[in-house]
Amino acid sequence: MSTYAYRAVVPGKSCDHCRQGFEIIQRIIEPALIKCPHCKNPISRILFAPAVVIKGNPVTETDRKIKEYEREGKWSHAAELADKEAEKTKRKDLKVRALEDYKKAGYDFDKYDKKDNS
Ligand SMILES: [Zn+2]
Repeated sequence: MSTYAYRAVVPGKSCDHCRQGFEIIQRIIEPALIKCPHCKNPISRILFAPAVVIKGNPVTETDRKIKEYEREGKWSHAAELADKEAEKTKRKDLKVRALEDYKKAGYDFDKYDKKDNS
């Protein structure tokens, strides 16, 4: 059982109950409420801060390794690892990360784009 907070989506149309927000105890498997039980107006769940953001990808050993390289400022190492892993797993987030790390390592991709053919 967890406590969830809800608040009216359109405060002007809502009852006192949901206008200020209310808390309700629900089981995790229960779907989120979309309507106020009192006035039936739309409500939305408020996430308690700091919200735990669960991204689509699990944190793998490689993720940790990349992070370690980044922490140590070994950008090219981090980039290569992220790049390799991105190829292997088809993960877009790692591809983006690899590019960012490459940039931090001093690679300038923009320069190559602008280079003329002369
Ligand atoms: Zn209401």
